[in-house]
Amino acid sequence: MKEKIKVVQQLLAEKGLYRGAIDGIFGPETLKSLNRVPGMSVNLPNVRKVTTMIQIGAREKGFNSGAIDGMWGPQTQYAFEELVYLQKYGKVREPWRPEEINPMNRWPRQNSPAFHEFYGLRAKNLVTVTVPYEMKIAWDMRYRAKKITCHTKVAESLLLVLENVRNIYGENEIERLALNRFGGCFNNRLMRGGTQWSTHSWGVALDFDPARNQLTWGRNQAAFAHPVYNDWWRCWEEEGWVSLGRRKNYDWMHVQAAEV
Ligand SMILES: [Zn+2]
Repeated sequence: MKEKIKVVQQLLAEKGLYRGAIDGIFGPETLKSLNRVPGMSVNLPNVRKVTTMIQIGAREKGFNSGAIDGMWGPQTQYAFEELVYLQKYGKVREPWRPEEINPMNRWPRQNSPAFHEFYGLRAKNLVTVTVPYEMKIAWDMRYRAKKITCHTKVAESLLLVLENVRNIYGENEIERLALNRFGGCFNNRLMRGGTQWSTHSWGVALDFDPARNQLTWGRNQAAFAHPVYNDWWRCWEEEGWVSLGRRKNYDWMHVQAAEV
């Protein structure tokens, strides 16, 4: 909350409505200034006033914060992060440039003859490995897993990725950022809404935190598109794994050992 209030104080100061300290403390000065913002409903709870101000400020700066309704959602979160970046660095965040991700061509292209030659038949050549940190099963968080079943040819690489993730983020951040929310690996099924077999059928794809990275969501909604996950993606990409989110801006939950 403190960071949100800081952003709001900064926005109010820019409007000439606030002369107090940018300290993230919601005092009477901050409240008085908020109530003077055109369009602000004085009867709203303070939390919603703060959210409303962030939405107004974001819109004025050209970020799409969705409806100005004082309700915090993924769109507001996205706009808020853009505002934080702008206030911190004095410029807008670099746009998304998927072409700057250099494919390593370590893994064969999905559905290509090379893919079938390399990985063989669906649902074969599987191995169950013990992963470096415990996973929570995303569709039923009461269940935990320390083992993942995947293709033998990706097992070593997968473990290396997850070890790096654990070393970089540590157990607490892994929990906070939901990097342990596991949505599945091997699953012999067709692609969602498609007629081709999913790379999950070979055990060369994994899903993480599906609830906050839904199939059709783009980078303005998907949790994994936020900068705090840059290291997470670096770990995968250093091993040549491909994020559909990073490359195609959909299915941000999904990462695979296959080019697209
Ligand atoms: Zn997937």
